[in-house]
Amino acid sequence: MVEDTWKVVYKSFEPKEETLREALCALGNGYFTTRGAAEESVAGKYHYPGTYLASGFNRLKTEIAGKWIENEDLVNWPDWTVLKYRHEDGDWIQLSEVEIIGYRQELNLQKGILSRKIRIKDAKGRTSKLVTRRIVCMHNKNLAAIKWEFTPVNWSGNIIVHNGLDGSVINHGVERYRDLNSKHLVVLDTGTMGKSGIYLKVRSNQSEIIMAQAAKLLIDGSSVKPIHKEKLPEYIGEEFEVGVAAGKPVTIEKIVSIFTSKDNAISEPLMEAKTLVGRTLGFDDLLEKHIAEWKGIWKESDVKLEADNGEDQLVLRLHIFHIFQTYSFNTIGIDAGIPARGLHGEAYRGHIFWDEIFVFPFFNISRPEISKSLLMYRYRRLNEARYAAQEAGFDGAMYPWQSGSNGREESQVIHLNPASGRWLPDHTFLQRHVNATIAYNVWHYFEITGDLEFLSFYGAEMLLEIAKFWASMASFNKEKGRYEILNIVGPDEYHTHYPGSDQPGLNNNAYTNVMAVFCLIHALKTIKKLDKEIAAVLLEQLEIDKSQLKKWEEIIKKMFVPFVGNKKVIEQFEGFDKLEEVDWGKYHAEYGEVLRLDRIMEKEGDDVNRYRAVKQADVLMLFFLFSSDELCDMFGRMGYEFNPKVQIPETIAYYQKITAHGSTLSKVVHSWVYARSRREESWKNFKKALMSDFKDVQGGTTSEGIHLGAMAGSLDLIQRCYTGMDFREDCLFFNPRLPENVQKIQFRIRYRKHWLEIIVTKGKFEIRNRGGWGGQIHIMLVKQKVSLKKGETKILEFHHKSTKKKEPEN
Ligand code: BGC
Repeated sequence: MVEDTWKVVYKSFEPKEETLREALCALGNGYFTTRGAAEESVAGKYHYPGTYLASGFNRLKTEIAGKWIENEDLVNWPDWTVLKYRHEDGDWIQLSEVEIIGYRQELNLQKGILSRKIRIKDAKGRTSKLVTRRIVCMHNKNLAAIKWEFTPVNWSGNIIVHNGLDGSVINHGVERYRDLNSKHLVVLDTGTMGKSGIYLKVRSNQSEIIMAQAAKLLIDGSSVKPIHKEKLPEYIGEEFEVGVAAGKPVTIEKIVSIFTSKDNAISEPLMEAKTLVGRTLGFDDLLEKHIAEWKGIWKESDVKLEADNGEDQLVLRLHIFHIFQTYSFNTIGIDAGIPARGLHGEAYRGHIFWDEIFVFPFFNISRPEISKSLLMYRYRRLNEARYAAQEAGFDGAMYPWQSGSNGREESQVIHLNPASGRWLPDHTFLQRHVNATIAYNVWHYFEITGDLEFLSFYGAEMLLEIAKFWASMASFNKEKGRYEILNIVGPDEYHTHYPGSDQPGLNNNAYTNVMAVFCLIHALKTIKKLDKEIAAVLLEQLEIDKSQLKKWEEIIKKMFVPFVGNKKVIEQFEGFDKLEEVDWGKYHAEYGEVLRLDRIMEKEGDDVNRYRAVKQADVLMLFFLFSSDELCDMFGRMGYEFNPKVQIPETIAYYQKITAHGSTLSKVVHSWVYARSRREESWKNFKKALMSDFKDVQGGTTSEGIHLGAMAGSLDLIQRCYTGMDFREDCLFFNPRLPENVQKIQFRIRYRKHWLEIIVTKGKFEIRNRGGWGGQIHIMLVKQKVSLKKGETKILEFHHKSTKKKEPEN
């Protein structure tokens, strides 16, 4: 049982776990995020302090194996947290080098505070107590602060306190990338200001983003003159002598302001940073406002779950916390996408992938303004996507698999297999399905919000350009009498080419083909939704004429989808079922859980492409994204008979046995697809998805950055999946199916300008309309239709079937 479902607590200092905790305890405000490395820690074996800026990218070239490659990275910006102390006669205190008598680290999710209570004893028997607190202000994106309370327990004397800003940092957080160039920053200026205070100004050496940091130190609430200045080429620090007496606490506050050249409403970053730090009173003043901001976030966005134990609730809150730290109201207007690994580490270089399809549902119902901001990130890169399509010989817009600053393809061309030490070509960029993600997100944002203005002026343009791209990519196969999509890669990254072929790409990935059809159907729907004049102008501008629209209809009717021999199971791609079987027993016996079978096989001189083994949910994505009604409709339009009662369970059973879950996204999907038929199985998968980061299930990847898709996906399972919440046309549907372990789910959503609160228990469904500015809305609970006006509450009963009796096997 956890002590408190708002607090992540660690009761001992564990050097080997520190980098994981630093990612889990990172603090951020959607503008920048700083890992939870202790102030006195230094980057090395046990610690990795890091500060990352939303959209703070820089490119560097490296020569590897005789070839120049270029990567765009999320830059590790100067470390503003440096704060350390020593006895007059001793070295700077490092926890790994002293005797720790007491230790408690706490991340308070409700208030956004990272704190530590430490009691240490040095070699001379001097015992001291240190209480530290840190915030990255949610109410003012340019501020952060630290407060220390230092108490000598059994001694009196002097300590030396050092306050620093470190611009010598490099990107060193991911071991696999260490052969690559990593020095992104040039220090432009360092100095001191006023009675006490330091500043540092840096520039990223390619993207030329300027960051300025200014910091002041208050001792017992006042500015004190430093006794020493440390000015190095890439570092600035000040040292203070502080007299301390046994049993008497001394407070040390560090107030920091960070501005960049990407900020709006500024003159020059350094000037702004100095001014703001000068105007700021102290830690307590900031803390109050910071807590009030978080209170507002939690009021609207908390997801309450009564289930097995408090740990589920705690981890769900941890996920909400990190989602908002990565993207908040502060991020709107910054022109940033949502990085797959948060702003919490350097894995995947801060790039933006299709993972957003897992994140949108949470924002769509809690903060649709954020969804819109994320879609605008894509809209601003539409021209780059048009250029990419043209270069590849297609029409319309082809968005990159990995996106960064300007929307060009940022996928790495070679990657290191840490198991073998070999650099290998990387063809995962052929995952064109990312385009369908963008179209799907545009449409669902529109369905939930009814934001026709967005659809008219931005969304439709993206959707139509993506539809054009699929239409030009689809080629007609006379023999089959159907359209095909060739030379692509599906979500399962174990398969990027056919065995023995030196050409990358696979044919007719079922997920991609069906998603292309989804895009075409919804592009046509969008045209009908728009005002006639707006639609006509847009079609003319995008050079979409009647014959193009006819072709789209034609492709929808004749898109090819592969099935395995029995015609029941959807085949992942053409030829997949003919691949060799894996001897899973052999690999499990040797390696335990084999999440990265691809790396193991490559190390052994084999190739996972030869086998029927799946890294992550691929075909099953279809059952995650669409209801069986929607699938029947789409397959029907394509001219395929689709019997969901037989084909869905058979397809799930086929893939379940061969999926390695090498991506944390996979468990989210597997939990979802079992939610209706095998609730216990669904719950087991939910728990795995939920604990992906908290328990670092991949054994080391979380310390390189959180997995935002799995974090948001676990929330989505509670909010949409188990309540059966769905948005169709102008009605909000519910069809709850609670797993046996769940007693109660409660959360608030925003739907079509209404603020609703939903409470589901076994057999009872309650919906409150708390207010808003919309008219009446329609709700459908299973088959009961009700309307709901402002201020109204409806309580409805539904039949809850216990799973205590055996459920049918899929
Ligand atoms: C997964 C992708 C995912 C990427 C970023 C990969 O391991 O296979 O589906 O987009 O990680 O999270």
